Formats: sequence, structure tokens, C-alpha cells
Amino acid sequence: MDTQPRLIASIADLRSNLCAARKAGKRIGLVPTMGALHEGHLSLVRQSQAQCDVTVVSIYVNPSQFGPREDLAKYPRTLKSDVEALAEQCADIVFVPSDNEMYPAGYGTWVEPGSVAQPLEGQCRSGHFRGVATVVLKLFEIVRPDAAYFGQKDFQQALVIRSMVRDLNMPVEIVVCPIVREPDGLALSSRNRYLSPAARRRALVLWSSLQQAEMLVAQGERSAEKIVAKMRDTILTAADARIDYIALVDPETLKPVLDLTGRTLAALAVTIENTRLIDNCLLEPPK
Ligand code: AMP
Repeated sequence: MDTQPRLIASIADLRSNLCAARKAGKRIGLVPTMGALHEGHLSLVRQSQAQCDVTVVSIYVNPSQFGPREDLAKYPRTLKSDVEALAEQCADIVFVPSDNEMYPAGYGTWVEPGSVAQPLEGQCRSGHFRGVATVVLKLFEIVRPDAAYFGQKDFQQALVIRSMVRDLNMPVEIVVCPIVREPDGLALSSRNRYLSPAARRRALVLWSSLQQAEMLVAQGERSAEKIVAKMRDTILTAADARIDYIALVDPETLKPVLDLTGRTLAALAVTIENTRLIDNCLLEPPK
């Protein structure tokens, strides 16, 4: 049975709505999103529902995490269908602040994330994690959740948030949920809708290259250089693929790994037909 979630745009209203729940000792879960919701987002909502008494889903396309040449203006905004999907999941509250509510005139405080924000996405998208960390910290202050839910799809983002929470002693549990994929392996993303049907097929090279890395590791290959070279060949079978990075890194520090002796993150960012896609998987060399 669907239950309409409460749609709240103001910080003051959200706080007063959560006040009674908090006083009653209820566990509050937060799922931060930029909307254009898909099964990946909804899996986070379900996880929050399973572990919390009240689930707040924020939908906010945060301008401060987009670079000047990125897709802020054309980012999909589908509030009506998002709210319908959240009603099906019985989410309690949907927080939809305006830019003015989040960044009123005179706004000037920013979170400078630490070293895990530097490589990979940090290198390609200058200022991205400063914007992400700032908006997430603001959402944590506004909602004061007991737990917050993020996807492994944005592995580095989850790491940046984890280190912010640790460094700033924030009393919130960070839960990272597995990547939800289409049946053919493409990781769900709000940006997939930009892809033409042919580009959508070419985009499968991301998943193929990650599977190839898994297979090479299972066969005993331990050289990061060799694994990355094979992944690159696979990606480049898509004629228009532009690779930002293919990286094998330590999943805690994101420092490059040369020989795979333990758990290693394989992460990539590739543009297909003007749409930048990211994906990753954890490689577990058998002991
Ligand atoms: P976004 O709306 O893209 O900012 O994503 C909001 C949250 O959903 C982030 O924590 C993402 O990591 C997560 N997410 C996005 N795509 C997926 C996916 N395919 N599987 C699981 N989580 C996802």
C-alpha cells in the first residue's frame, strides 16, 4: 500500500517535523539524492527503512558540486515520478529544499575534504568533493540522522563522507550499499538516460572491463599494470570511449596499487557519447 510521503521544502518545517520522532527515541535514516530516482536510490531507501523508524530522502541537485562545464542545467529533474516511487517505498519525508534555502545570499562556509578527495574524481572534477562534503554536512546538521545511506557506485564519495564524519566527530553511522545494475551489468545512474540506445550498448564496456579485471585476478594475475592495460583495451572497443581514468587503488587510502596482494578497488570513469560514466568493483585476490 502506498503512503504519500510528506514533502517538505523548508529547513524549519523539517526540523519541527522530526522533533517529535527524535524525542520519542526513534531512529532517523537519511538518504541524500539528487533525484531522477532509480532502483539504485530505492535500494538505499529500503535499507534505511529496514534499519530506521523514520526515513528522510533528500532530493537536491546541489550546484556547488558541479563544475562550470558540467551538466547542472540539464541534470534530469523528475520530482513527480520521484515522489511516486518514494510513496511506493513508504518513505516518510521527502526534503526538497530550494537553492535559496541551502545557499542563501551571503553563504560562505565550505568543507575542505582530506586526502581521499584528491585522486580519481577529485583530479577530474576540481571542487566536486568540496561541494559534496559541504552539502552532506549541511544535510546532516538539518536532519541530524542516526544513519545515512550511500551507494558503492560513488565509492570515493562514500569514503570522503566517512572521513569527514570521522574527522569532525559527527554522530552518524554511514552505511554503504551495493551497486544496483541493469540485468546486462550497466550500473544504474541518473545519467544513463542521456545515452542513445547505441551508446547505451557501447557503455557496457565499463562492466565488461571490470569483469575482465575480476577474471584476471581469479586466474592469478597480480600486476596492476597488466590488468589496467587489458581493461583499457576492452574499454577502447567502444569507438568513442574517452577514458578519464582506470585505476587500481587501495580501497581505504585510494593510493595506487602496483601488485595486488590484498583487497583492491578497480575504479573507472569513461565518457561515451558526451556522457561521463563511473563504475567500480572490489577485487579480492585469493590468499
Ligand atoms: P545521486 O542522486 O547520483 O547523487 O545518488 C544518490 C545516492 O544514490 C548516492 O549515494 C549514490 O551512490 C547512490 N546510487 C546511485 N546509483 C546507484 C546504484 N546504481 N546502486 C546503488 N546506489 C546508487
